[in-house]
Amino acid sequence: MNYEAVIGLEVHVQALTASKMFCACANRFGAEPNTLVCPVCLGYPGALPVMNAEAVKKTIEIGLMCGCAIALRSKFDRKSYFYPDMPKNYQISQYDLPLCGLGHLAVGGKGFSGDPLPDKVIGITRIHLEEDVGKLNHFGRSSGVDYNRAGVPLMEVVSEPDMRSADEAYAYLTVLKQICEYAGVSSCDMEKGQMRCDVNVSVRPVGETKLGTKIEIKNLNSFRSVHRSLLYEIERQTEAVRAGEKLRQETRRWDDALGQTFVMRVKEQAHDYRYFPEPDLMPVVLDEAQVAAWRAALPEAPEARRARFVADCQVTPYDAHVLTLEKPLADYFEAAAKAAGHPKLTANWIITELLRELGEKNLTIDTCPIPPAAFGKLIALVAGGAITGKSAKDVFAEMFASGKAPEVIVQEKGLQQVNDSGAILAFVDQAIAASPKAVEEYRAGKTATIQFLVGQVMKLSRGKSNPQTVLALLKEKLG
Ligand code: ADP
Ligand code: MG
Ligand code: ZN
Repeated sequence: MNYEAVIGLEVHVQALTASKMFCACANRFGAEPNTLVCPVCLGYPGALPVMNAEAVKKTIEIGLMCGCAIALRSKFDRKSYFYPDMPKNYQISQYDLPLCGLGHLAVGGKGFSGDPLPDKVIGITRIHLEEDVGKLNHFGRSSGVDYNRAGVPLMEVVSEPDMRSADEAYAYLTVLKQICEYAGVSSCDMEKGQMRCDVNVSVRPVGETKLGTKIEIKNLNSFRSVHRSLLYEIERQTEAVRAGEKLRQETRRWDDALGQTFVMRVKEQAHDYRYFPEPDLMPVVLDEAQVAAWRAALPEAPEARRARFVADCQVTPYDAHVLTLEKPLADYFEAAAKAAGHPKLTANWIITELLRELGEKNLTIDTCPIPPAAFGKLIALVAGGAITGKSAKDVFAEMFASGKAPEVIVQEKGLQQVNDSGAILAFVDQAIAASPKAVEEYRAGKTATIQFLVGQVMKLSRGKSNPQTVLALLKEKLG
């Protein structure tokens, strides 16, 4: 019997705000432990929370980007649990009335392995807002708690169990991160713990519609570990079910060094969170006009931008996917294409030359030494026939190294394309005279040899001859 995996993700994303969720302490990473704290986020008795409006706005914004139903009325609840990272012994969260309801995310592009993935829509169950907890630091036989992170606004995006593979989960996370970055709601820096993921996974026979017994893997902090732990867990569960074992609902933890999951607790030991409405906070009441204004101010979603690039710029869907992965790259492409007047050629040059060069030099589009307008100008020179594609590569390398304008480099290096047949003819004659063997082969019917001769002419003219003219003249000469 064949089995399929069923996966749902709960992703925690820290909202990009100046202050914490319910107090005025800074929402900042990297400070000395316990320097960004106050009676509210330390849970001192009698301290009262005050809601951060910016965090509410950011949660609505991510909801709008995911096409969620926005609740005009929602509320906060207390989720009780006892652990040293939680100074109040309860976390302020949202239970039955979250800020955002049903939505969806379109995923596609590439999986972790780099293989293309078909487009698919993953349902979003809800997005709610809560406060983050502190961080435990372990030193040998003692541990310390840093409460700087306690009370930082955390948006939790809960998906439907719609994913069927580790690659799909990876693609979903990629898109979610991309959307948060596009909307500017979070920096999503995983190394700083700004994006963390709980993975829920079960297996069932293919064709079965009922969900299997789910295992939850807690607190994964990289896309890679989500992917690896899923591969491991899907195989483990499938083997167990095949062997006739009955799985228990469990919470497990992933050990990255060992590459295995381990049981943390079984369902019988599950927490009873004793949710009840937070009495110190008013419900959140929004009006339609406010939500509409936030919606209107959002940037174009990557999905829409991809579609526009395909429709208006003649780029392939895959190229559009690459160009929209990060908003700064999509912005760069648009600015460069505008300066060039040739979007398709601009896209090709960005994807092949620019991205390769950035990768080799360990740079990002934000630190790219070539401004988009100058890059566009280079493309315009190629498209307009002022320089050959081959010269353009030299100009590009020089622009990257020196930051000089393309026209200046073309002048300095004398790279203007030679279109004058008379001048090219001299090179053609020279090439024919120097390669009797190739000429003979061509005349004997091996027509592909002409490309070799074109290459020779280009070499002799230092890459500057118009390749079309070269070809035409060679054919004429060789008869
Ligand atoms: P819990 O109350 O244990 O947190 P929920 O029903 O709220 O469980 O679901 C949490 C996450 O687990 C969601 O992302 C959901 O899509 C996913 N999920 C629920 N049931 C299953 C299952 N049987 N297999 C895989 N994922 C599941
Ligand atoms: Mg859960
Ligand atoms: Zn505080």
